[in-house]
Amino acid sequence: MTSVIDHWIGGRRVAGRSGRTAPVYDPATGEVSGEVPLASAAEVDAAVASAVTAAEEWRTASLSRRAAVLFAFRELLHDRSGELARVVTAEHGKVLADAAGEVARGLENVEFATGVPHLLKGGFSEQVSSGVDVYSIRQPLGVVAGITPFNFPVMVPLWMCANAIACGNAFVLKPSERDPSASLLLAEMWQQAGLPDGVFTVLHGDKEAVGRLLVHDDVAAVSFVGSTPVARHIYETGTAHGKRVQALGGAKNHMVVLPDADVDLAADAAVSAAYGAAGERCMAISVAVAVGAIGDQLVEAIAARLPKLKVGRGADPDTDMGPLITAEHRDRVADYIGQGEAAGARVVVDGRAADVPAAGFFLGTTLLDHVERDMSVYTDEIFGPVLSVVRVDTYEEAVALINANPYANGTAIFTRDGGAARRFQVEVEVGMVGVNVPIPVPVASYSFGGWRDSLFGDSHMYGPEGLAFYTRGKVVTSRWPDPATSQVDLGFPQTR
Ligand code: NAD
Repeated sequence: MTSVIDHWIGGRRVAGRSGRTAPVYDPATGEVSGEVPLASAAEVDAAVASAVTAAEEWRTASLSRRAAVLFAFRELLHDRSGELARVVTAEHGKVLADAAGEVARGLENVEFATGVPHLLKGGFSEQVSSGVDVYSIRQPLGVVAGITPFNFPVMVPLWMCANAIACGNAFVLKPSERDPSASLLLAEMWQQAGLPDGVFTVLHGDKEAVGRLLVHDDVAAVSFVGSTPVARHIYETGTAHGKRVQALGGAKNHMVVLPDADVDLAADAAVSAAYGAAGERCMAISVAVAVGAIGDQLVEAIAARLPKLKVGRGADPDTDMGPLITAEHRDRVADYIGQGEAAGARVVVDGRAADVPAAGFFLGTTLLDHVERDMSVYTDEIFGPVLSVVRVDTYEEAVALINANPYANGTAIFTRDGGAARRFQVEVEVGMVGVNVPIPVPVASYSFGGWRDSLFGDSHMYGPEGLAFYTRGKVVTSRWPDPATSQVDLGFPQTR
């Protein structure tokens, strides 16, 4: 039986009226599990109008009231995290433990935002001139939109909405149409937490809905996470229409393994970072850069681990890796393996030949060795369970390789040498760096973002930069004459 998924506008479920819908799949069976409406421009306008009204009231809510709502939302998210994880697994396919991890990482952002009374404190300078004080305040923008990818249907919306709402904005979420159901659970929880109706909206759709949001006069800012071509388009169109935009794009994350690294530690890290969530993570490691003599040992250690990974339904507790998001994407990833092989890469482990369930969008793990920088498996973001090993002779070559790549989201180095690690963190031109940590996603009190084609805009997401993104600064210069000079006798010794 397929479920019909609604929008969430003005604090209630609203059926789609555009007549356009898209199927939602259970990637573990390949069957259609739901139907999601694709909003028309008129439906976007109605949703934004409801958000505008809600934003006018919410901006006046006291900081303590906002914090109380966030604390209540945090408790609901915590209590219902298992239910959320099951919904994520059912539509995305990732294993339950991974889905629970995504909810936990999203929750961190809500916990950060509960500190809003402290976080929004401004500066104050007393007596910059006689009787003159200067202070700064930060005010909400109004209605802000979030457009999110399929691979983290809970965490990425929480990266955005926790801070946006804490800052006093109304937030319109346009989730991925591939796994849209978790966003409705979030909407219900916001309402139960006491958030006024209309402050959190879910509007399902595709590029038609996004196109309208990008030009809508009442949308002040757009946060986007997704692939690089769409991120570039969102940034260019949104800013051309006067909006503040942060648009995070795709990735090709390199993990450098120096000759002195602990091979077992590096191989364990490479396996979990390359094949976790079937490689459908923007912080997945997709290139291992083996420096000098460690190459053979590293490839052997990774290859030895892969047969132990069980590929199957994400809902089964003993599964290590679930399916890919769609059949087309699975076929595209398989095609890349063929391209790599044809170009001369050595296929050490071939995911196309793996024993995986016949139904569903499954593909086994693939390890490619001797990958060269002009091969498509190196130049393109594959976004699947494929790890390419590039061999270089020196540390300098490894850093030059990373710095020449158009993507610059995350990177990692594995070494026992603190000086080498320190030099790497200084010299590598990438937004997020791990030292013996393969997926260095910053905790919620820092901000997340890559460089070059992995981020368009000036602001990283969540943490302090998220708060700055969702507020406008104002500086007040105020002069109050000494009451002793007042025309009215206020009880001070008069000097006039
Ligand atoms: P995607 O770019 O296809 O879609 C992202 C969002 O944009 C969705 O909501 C989608 O409906 C919308 N969209 C798609 N095409 C559009 C168009 N032409 N015009 C307007 N809107 C459009 O990305 P995806 O396949 O959902 O997610 C995977 C991608 O996201 C990967 O490239 C991955 O690296 C990236 N990603 C990046 C980060 C990061 O933090 N940098 C995090 C997660 C995912």
